[in-house]
Amino acid sequence: MQKVMDIDSGVTRAAVAHEGRARRLSVLGATGSVGTSTLDLVARHGEAFEIEVLTAQTNAGALADLALKHHARLAVIGDERAYPELKSRLVGSGIEVAAGPAALIEAASRPVDCVMAAIVGAAGLRPTFAAARAARRVALANKECLVSAGAVFMSAIKDAGCELLPVDSEHSAVHQSIGGHDPKFIERIVLTASGGPFRTATDAEIAAATPEQAARHPNFSMGRKITVDSATLMNKCLELIEAYHLFPVAADQLAVVVHPQQIVHGFVEFTDGSVIAQMGTPDMRTPIASSLAWPARMAAPAARLDLVRLGALTFEAPDEKRFPALGLARRTFELGGTAGAVLNAANEVAVEAFLARQIPFPAIAALAAEALEEAARRGRVDEPACLDDVIAADEEGRALARGLLRRYS
Ligand code: NAD
Ligand code: MG
Repeated sequence: MQKVMDIDSGVTRAAVAHEGRARRLSVLGATGSVGTSTLDLVARHGEAFEIEVLTAQTNAGALADLALKHHARLAVIGDERAYPELKSRLVGSGIEVAAGPAALIEAASRPVDCVMAAIVGAAGLRPTFAAARAARRVALANKECLVSAGAVFMSAIKDAGCELLPVDSEHSAVHQSIGGHDPKFIERIVLTASGGPFRTATDAEIAAATPEQAARHPNFSMGRKITVDSATLMNKCLELIEAYHLFPVAADQLAVVVHPQQIVHGFVEFTDGSVIAQMGTPDMRTPIASSLAWPARMAAPAARLDLVRLGALTFEAPDEKRFPALGLARRTFELGGTAGAVLNAANEVAVEAFLARQIPFPAIAALAAEALEEAARRGRVDEPACLDDVIAADEEGRALARGLLRRYS
């Protein structure tokens, strides 16, 4: 797998200085879990931000409410059927409105200080690439940009001179732990995993797991897709791929440890044996605040960490036998090219099918693995030259996965 290994770009580059003026911020995926947490922080910091663009896919009512509350200049709804509602809700407000996929990309292309890229899934690829070309900083929640388009996305960031800050809590932790250290002294990067709702479940319980059970994340409240990924541990697989592209290390320098309390979010081991970790109560507003304010800090209302009250932090090895999705990261690194795009797309199809009760829980990882192997067998995981190649691989992954659904149902 090809990666962009320039330690002077992306997350390790010195951040833009805080200029003492309101920063213009666009939020892609404003109605989602990360989007609303971002706007919660914005609301607490009155004059510090001006909202340029807010986007959502279908929920015009929620988008209109947020646009009015935050005095956005532009509100864009992805689904054109929801445009009349958005328009009627914002008529007379002075807020521009638009709809459709092209409008989303155009909105993401507005030059701003920062774009919070918080659309879920591969649907976020084109808008986030557009943001990378136009914004000074991309705060990246949409992990699919790195999982599906890793090297292509990092090149786009570098070519545009855009600054990339990770929002995913584990990657934010690693970024903060690297701090000002020279990355050549990094020996290993470790991401923590909650283990999900089935951490202690038996094979039989996992086989019978329902969407309702999978939706119960032990610590974080998140969107439903990533919550299912946390239950299969596919989320940690995707996060290993994400980390590979973000940080200047080789695949075998990345590891996962299960840490049910999710207080330590990630840690970096250095060549002298020092281990630097970032800790905090599990609340996405902390890594979001870090991505918006870096290298400064901004106040965030997460519950304060009380280690005495917690008493103990525990760690255990992940069980790839019960959670085979995790091992797919290794296979993706081996295959390289567009393997990440195929895997991610197949997983998105499988998660949707599981939520629709078409396939059982263990079929999610099995189906994604089979789609990946089939794409490889057909020679369809070549190195992508551009985003269009990535999107073609994504479509291939989706088609392969859909073709397998019946067999797994
Ligand atoms: P969510 O489902 O809560 O929200 C997704 C947002 O994207 C919504 O505003 C929705 O309107 C919009 N959207 C959905 N489909 C779209 C489409 N086809 N086109 C354009 N917009 C669309 O998701 P979330 O949990 O906030 O996750 C967002 C991203 O952040 C994901 O990539 C996820 O992996 C990542 N992430 C989330 C968390 C978390 O705590 N929720 C943590 C780490 C990383
Ligand atoms: Mg995470």
